[in-house]
Amino acid sequence: MSECTHNCETCSANCSSRQSESMLEEQNSLSNIKNVYAVVSGKGGVGKTLVTTLLAVNMRRRGYEVGVLDADITGPSVARPFGTSAVRAEGSDAGIFPVVSKTGLKLMSLSYLLENETDPVVWRGPIIAGTVKQFWTDVVWGDVDFMFVDMPPGTGDVPLTVFQSLPVKGIVVVASPQELVSTIVEKAVKMANLMNIPVLGLVENMSYYVCGNCGEKHKIFGESHIDDTAERYGIDSVSKLPIDAKLSAASDKGMIELYEGDWLDALTDKIEENGKANG
Ligand code: ADP
Repeated sequence: MSECTHNCETCSANCSSRQSESMLEEQNSLSNIKNVYAVVSGKGGVGKTLVTTLLAVNMRRRGYEVGVLDADITGPSVARPFGTSAVRAEGSDAGIFPVVSKTGLKLMSLSYLLENETDPVVWRGPIIAGTVKQFWTDVVWGDVDFMFVDMPPGTGDVPLTVFQSLPVKGIVVVASPQELVSTIVEKAVKMANLMNIPVLGLVENMSYYVCGNCGEKHKIFGESHIDDTAERYGIDSVSKLPIDAKLSAASDKGMIELYEGDWLDALTDKIEENGKANG
């Protein structure tokens, strides 16, 4: 470890001086967010947003107030699955109001603030990290029982900001079968350990494909290694999501709230229990 510069903003070490000095940001005075969970992945395109949205929809179906905070500032992708790409967020002196989906999920993503959805976000790291903090401090979330944060991939500046600024109670790691045999997942799990945040579940996305004609399960990316990885890191909840054209269609056409599937039910139970235990 390098020598301490006494600047916790740029350091991930969990030393005694950090513990005595909380860097948590205050939520907006008109927000009452009870439980925050982050969905992470080692790299992009493995289905992190899909899993975030499915967990949020599951929780909403159980009758909770649910928020989704899109912390992937340079690649915001939460708006599309909910059919809200054309919607723009409104604000007042009190702050910015989240966009509300058809079934009542509260959503905030940079794409709701851009003039055009296709505008690139060419910003330096501190501005990006500051925007994520503002999604917590300046958005009028109201009551939220469960908030899911769609993190940018990897273990860089923005994930560090989220873990230090928001009271994240647990992490869900999403990976493809190939990633589970690489070091990418290990890095995400080790970052969570470093921040003292429990990994509540490991999701293997694109785990298999069920043939529509013969009903056989094909492991397109090879045998699953999710159980070995979970065991190595003491993660007791594993989920497997199939490659399913209906899932991508629902997500791409803005109808994720209509999806049918029980793949993430056990993980949703686990998060619900964690939330209830934490009050
Ligand atoms: P990430 O957030 O990790 O970058 P996304 O969740 O945006 O990845 O997924 C990338 C693309 O792959 C999306 O179009 C999504 O609908 C599709 N996709 C992800 N997982 C599946 C799956 N299990 N079956 C079908 N399509 C999927």
